[in-house]
Amino acid sequence: MNELKIEDKLRLYASAFENALECMMITDDTRRVIAVNPAFERITGFSPAEVTGKRPSFLDSKTHNMSFYRTIWRAVRVNGSWQGEIQSRRKTGEIYSEWLSITALTRGGALHYLAVFTDITHRKEYESTLYALANYDPLTGLANRNLFNERIELAIKRAAHSRQKLALLILDMDRFKSVRMTLGQATADQLLLAAVTRIKKCLGPNETLARLGGDEFAIIAENVHDATDAVRIARDVLSTMSRVFLSKEYERYLTCSIGISVYPDDCVDANFLQKNADTATYRAKLRGRNNFQMYGPDMHVATFEQLLLENNLRSAISNGEFCLFYQPIVDAETGKLARMESLIRWNHPELGLIPPDVFIRSAEESGLIYKIGEWVIREACQQFQTWKANGIDLPVVSVNVSAVQLRKMNLFSIVASAIRDNRLKPGELELEITESSAMQNSDASFGFLKDLGSLGVGLSIDDFGVGYSSLAYLKRLPIHRLKIDRSFVRDLPEDSDSKAIAAAIIAMAHSLELGVIAEGVESLPQLNYLRSINCDEVQGFYFAQPMPPNEVDFARYQ
Ligand code: C2E
Ligand code: MG
Ligand code: MG
Repeated sequence: MNELKIEDKLRLYASAFENALECMMITDDTRRVIAVNPAFERITGFSPAEVTGKRPSFLDSKTHNMSFYRTIWRAVRVNGSWQGEIQSRRKTGEIYSEWLSITALTRGGALHYLAVFTDITHRKEYESTLYALANYDPLTGLANRNLFNERIELAIKRAAHSRQKLALLILDMDRFKSVRMTLGQATADQLLLAAVTRIKKCLGPNETLARLGGDEFAIIAENVHDATDAVRIARDVLSTMSRVFLSKEYERYLTCSIGISVYPDDCVDANFLQKNADTATYRAKLRGRNNFQMYGPDMHVATFEQLLLENNLRSAISNGEFCLFYQPIVDAETGKLARMESLIRWNHPELGLIPPDVFIRSAEESGLIYKIGEWVIREACQQFQTWKANGIDLPVVSVNVSAVQLRKMNLFSIVASAIRDNRLKPGELELEITESSAMQNSDASFGFLKDLGSLGVGLSIDDFGVGYSSLAYLKRLPIHRLKIDRSFVRDLPEDSDSKAIAAAIIAMAHSLELGVIAEGVESLPQLNYLRSINCDEVQGFYFAQPMPPNEVDFARYQ
């Protein structure tokens, strides 16, 4: 290549300076501006005339302190150059980010400085969008699992350093899958947002909420004194969630189960802290949901999923791990014992009593419900016989029967033989069938229910009001009683909708000559209202919780 002549070289350099896309600024040794290129004016808004002879402090964004600038100039002095990100101010006052390099030019005895910079505002915005996408949940704006993992690690480091405790609470919404199925994705998201808003209000400045996935959330509580601080948060969350969620699209209750693990009491590592809190959440689910559990070392024996394995249930039958609790149903007027409902419990050797909600569905899916159901019927009849032999005057024992059992024809012979073997009159046994299962099975169950009816066994429709019963169909079934679902009793006597529904169910049932039981009665005002609308029988914690047969105080209901 030919050597360029001096003038040509200078022209070429000047053209590079004029046409460069990067801003260029040359200053003298006192840092006063000698020259700026057109890109400089384009980006900063300052013309060459405005800046020549001035120090570049007109670009100062006031976002950096003096020591920041001192560090830069020290680097230029020592190394001859500095590069980095810096915030500057345009003529309009707008602050922007630039990538700046400063070089000291020492040729020919004179000292100059060359500053070259590019506007990186867009790149920064893009980066921060990427960061948000990677670290925040778009629906709730909460930290996602990614950022949560970083935060819990940091929080543990801080706690270790300051010798403080730290609690991790993992919250899982109860039955959210079915909420999503009934409400649809968009409305379920709205409900979740409403829940997050409530949960946030329970948290203080040392507590952060994250969304770990679908309906799973985590709270990191720093600087806790002991586990009672974490318990307070869990209680507050459960309590704020217990109010109904109301919007144009829905009117729903949404509860959650909470597991708590404490650093350094339970473990000293973020991974284990999470695993332990998870295990405790599963335990809360096992304990009937809508509650919290503290992690304990005994919890590792079995997790929720493992427990639900068929094998576990199967061995539960052969090991005799099921038992029946009993809950009285009393006459609303006289307070006398009208019947006793049997409610199954799984007495797990390590986990203790597990409520039916947790395992009935999996028993139904695996077909084990046939064996379990048969055991329940025989056990309840035998208990009734034992009470009778002890001189206890109990009119009726009732047994819950699952929809799946109704599909199997030998239920009739099981019921008949249980009655015969324990010398019961058929009317002393009653079966409770949920509204939906009675409707689902239509023809097959209809024939079967009719056979049972003709045998003289009582039949009641459980959880009435939550399904979609056809009244005509109801009339064809040989049933004796309706049990009004707990959800219509809960808000009595304040809620006018509940009042209207309860009164309508009772009036309708009576006109079809059916008796009515209200379940879930927890207070005297509820009882008084139910009496005033002629409800026949009542059941609920106001009278007694379900309990083992030897704990029932029959004298109370004489
Ligand atoms: P269910 O037959 O409607 O039973 C009523 C449930 O409400 C029971 O829950 C009972 O403990 C609870 N309860 C009673 N009074 C009150 C109250 O005042 N307030 C509140 N909040 N709750 C009250 P549990 O024992 O957990 O049983 C749940 C469901 O599991 C039962 O609902 C029934 O459908 C089913 N189940 C129970 N035992 C059996 C069984 O042996 N076989 C089958 N297939 N299902 C069963
Ligand atoms: Mg029942
Ligand atoms: Mg019920």
